[in-house]
Amino acid sequence: MSTQEPFTIEQFYKFLGQRKLMAGKCTRCGKIHLPPRPLCDECFSQEFEWTEVSGKGKLLTYSIIHVAPQQFQGMAPYAVGIIKLENGIKIPGMIAGATQEQLKIGMDLTIDFGTCNTAQPWPQWPRYCFKRWSSSSKRKIRQKKGSKTEFR
Ligand SMILES: [Zn+2]
Repeated sequence: MSTQEPFTIEQFYKFLGQRKLMAGKCTRCGKIHLPPRPLCDECFSQEFEWTEVSGKGKLLTYSIIHVAPQQFQGMAPYAVGIIKLENGIKIPGMIAGATQEQLKIGMDLTIDFGTCNTAQPWPQWPRYCFKRWSSSSKRKIRQKKGSKTEFR
């Protein structure tokens, strides 16, 4: 076995760079922390293991950013939301490719790695965003036989 990657935000972003949404799972109580943290807020254990989580979820709430930080000014106005993932975890994220009129609470969203065009690269910013996803596009992808791209 290779040595376990540290449960740090830095490592979380390294995984994002590998197009993986990884969370720290407490090995004592099973609580999943995303982003990972060094101490479980449920049982105070410091024992974790990395677990990959689904990037699909529903939009819980959002706000439209009109006055953006300098590096995102070229994108404003844009939407930032809280997305409830399939496993119940809530994470914040920018929502790309949807107009304000298209944004709806409860809409299906899926994580998108690396295609979010930030005005300029900034290492501290999470390299993921959310985009619209619907069950009709899911069916279309499933029909492609022999394709490796498949939603579960
Ligand atoms: Zn725990």
